[in-house]
Amino acid sequence: MFMTAFKNISALLVIGVIACLACPAPVSAQDADSVRPRNVILMIGDGMGAAQVSALRLHAGRTQFDRFPTAGFSVTCSADHLVTESASGATALSTGRRTTSGRVAMDSTGRPLQTVLEYAKSLGKATGVVATSAITHATPAAFLAHVDSRKKQNEIAGQITVSGVNVLVGGGRQFFTPAQEGGARGDGLNLLLSMGGKGYAIFDSLRDVPGRFGSMVMLLAPDALAPAGARAATLSGMVDCALGMLRRHEHGFFLMVEGSQIDWAGHANDFPQLLREMSEFDSAVGRVLDFAEGDGSTLVVVTADHETGGLSLFGEKPDGSDLRAAWSTTEHSASMVPVFAFGPGRERFGGIRDNADIGRLLFRALGKIGD
Ligand SMILES: [Zn+2]
Repeated sequence: MFMTAFKNISALLVIGVIACLACPAPVSAQDADSVRPRNVILMIGDGMGAAQVSALRLHAGRTQFDRFPTAGFSVTCSADHLVTESASGATALSTGRRTTSGRVAMDSTGRPLQTVLEYAKSLGKATGVVATSAITHATPAAFLAHVDSRKKQNEIAGQITVSGVNVLVGGGRQFFTPAQEGGARGDGLNLLLSMGGKGYAIFDSLRDVPGRFGSMVMLLAPDALAPAGARAATLSGMVDCALGMLRRHEHGFFLMVEGSQIDWAGHANDFPQLLREMSEFDSAVGRVLDFAEGDGSTLVVVTADHETGGLSLFGEKPDGSDLRAAWSTTEHSASMVPVFAFGPGRERFGGIRDNADIGRLLFRALGKIGD
């Protein structure tokens, strides 16, 4: 009798286990929000549409993009234009809000919008920005400053100086230095000197980072860096430098990395240069994924602010050896751009999203509840 009852209980348990395996466990919103990465790394390929990623994949065979388990699309419109530009495109990603074209982390009425970098800083995390353009250019600026026009690069530099960001690696030294010293500032201020006074280590070339955590500014060129293939510092080297410092912070970090000049190859309709820029961005993606794999608590999201050039691809040979490009514009286009995600909470980034939703999901990944 006892054995029969025991067998029946066992059978019930087995049936129960099978039933549990057969039906997916309900995931509540609370469960999804408990997946909180320690670090968040956003990588933006400026002007990198699906065709730009396809070009690299068809040209090079396998890419670092192949390592992402989650992919989706982002609709890139600004608040007032079907076809966006980089300031409003980056603002959607950095603040979770669409704004008027040309504005930098500021809404259509002139109200400053908190950026995801600022939110991460408010949580006690370290923050960093890496770009191959001037660090004051539209995309990096949308994480660090609030102005009504992307053209105000001197003002952006002034805001960056007091932003409290920990790591800057990119170009744009002239916007921090006065005209009498060869810079672009008419107000006579040397912002690098004042940052040095606040404890930043200041460099004008890539260096091995100091042995313990500290803030640093590496401005590698007066304005943008030279194009891929001609610049001394590669984006991978710049990322290594930033990660080398940020990984030492005890409460984790937020890092934005921009492959700024993918966009410029698109504006120039220069296919060989586009492949060089994409290849360099791909290597940097690989470095970030290597770090995230080793770390285990890093969310990596790679996307674009918009597509540039209206790129189409043609050829006959499946090995890509005769890959050809046709461009439909020297401006941006309205095509959706790809989104790739890796790490804790990556699932939220799949499917089709508006660009501002990607921004809101980054806030949520860091623990922000609500809108
Ligand atoms: Zn552009």
